[in-house]
Amino acid sequence: MQADLVVVGSGLFGATVAQRAAEELGVHVVVVERREHLGGNAYSYRDAETGIEVHRYGSHIFHTSDERVWAYANRFTDFNDYRHHVYANHRGEIYPLPINLGTINQFFRAALGPQAARALIAEQAAEITGEPANLEDKAISLIGRPLYEAFIRGYTAKQWQTDPTELDAAIITRLPVRLNYNNRYFSDPHEGIPVDGYGTWVERMLDQPRIDVRLGEDFLGTDGPLTRDACIGRVPVVYTGALDRFFNQRLGALTWRTLDFDTHILPTGDHQGTAVINYSDADVPYTRVHEFRHYHPERTYPDDATVIMREYSRMAGSDDDPYYPVGTPSDRARLAQYQRLTAEVEPQQVAFGGRLGSYRYLDMDRAIAAALDCFEQRVRPWFG
Ligand code: FAD
Ligand code: UDP
Repeated sequence: MQADLVVVGSGLFGATVAQRAAEELGVHVVVVERREHLGGNAYSYRDAETGIEVHRYGSHIFHTSDERVWAYANRFTDFNDYRHHVYANHRGEIYPLPINLGTINQFFRAALGPQAARALIAEQAAEITGEPANLEDKAISLIGRPLYEAFIRGYTAKQWQTDPTELDAAIITRLPVRLNYNNRYFSDPHEGIPVDGYGTWVERMLDQPRIDVRLGEDFLGTDGPLTRDACIGRVPVVYTGALDRFFNQRLGALTWRTLDFDTHILPTGDHQGTAVINYSDADVPYTRVHEFRHYHPERTYPDDATVIMREYSRMAGSDDDPYYPVGTPSDRARLAQYQRLTAEVEPQQVAFGGRLGSYRYLDMDRAIAAALDCFEQRVRPWFG
């Protein structure tokens, strides 16, 4: 197939680069996608039986402080007014997240005000002196050991299957700690769910005559005109698959987490009363339960059926889909070596990006922002 640019992966990174290149440069773009649908991990679809929009790879809530990204996303979709709240089940009791004054007072059976709560946490966090070097120390420094052990340790161990002392402190700074009763999960000025779902959003981005989409094709496959061996050095490529797999794991595998999902239709109009409940304790095998009907309060859904999904986390084997970069110290050293390899192939008009291609924990808005930058800084110059 004739292509001026090949984009590998139809997640929000790949879709953004493809859309910009076709519209701005007028080039013919071929998007190669291994799965049978567009949208990457953000993909959602309407369940045939209930009509409920199901997030195929776990709950996705769009939120951003980046006006450029917000304006760009709104070209292709409207967003509803959904505001994300998460609750935690710890030893059979429900607490609000992220950790806030409500969580603290419920946990300590107290009625503390902000200053008293700050003093209590400072006392419980005092065991950490100096700059926290890993997730465990960082979490204890933020919330003290008792809250860490209740809400973070078991969940993180299930989710990352890695000792929290081996994990990057930055992972936990994603979760705010609030000394008031605000339990909004995100603090960005823009938040919502695309009204027609994520699948439709990405379809609209790629619905133009200069873009061809090839579903069910693996760029790292052994034969065909749209594979690594056929394309690299012959046609410009933007690659958003796993970085180490592009190089056949020549320097060893990077560690990734994969997820398993267990989806059920239940005969009730509301199973848990909210979109996500996290299960904090190590003895519950799943990390969280999603109930998708709550993402679209503006839609009319059946009152006798609901779709729930339990999410399980484990280390990815070489045949599993990678979802999260783990990023232990040895991964970070290996990543630096892979980055030296990417620098060697980039002059052949190859760019690496997205969550998998850059081995970075990117939210959707940051994936789009990085793709807009990749388009301007890398792809546009290829076409003069
Ligand atoms: P992806 O969406 O992973 O897309 C990469 C695509 O490349 C995939 O479709 C894959 O099939 C394809 N591909 C890979 N290898 C090949 C190959 N060899 N050949 C062809 N195709 C290939 N972000 C938020 O902002 N809010 C949230 O609430 C949120 N929740 C999340 C929950 C979960 C469980 C997960 C896993 C992520 C969540 N994210 C969330 C992050 C969000 O999914 C990512 O930011 C976004 O998907 C990044 O897009 P991407 O294009 O980089 O990668
Ligand atoms: N986390 C936790 N308990 C919770 C929620 C989150 O320990 O109930 C920790 C966990 O290590 C997780 C990190 O905080 O990986 C970031 O949480 P977030 O909800 O952003 O995770 P994601 O949605 O990316 O899986």
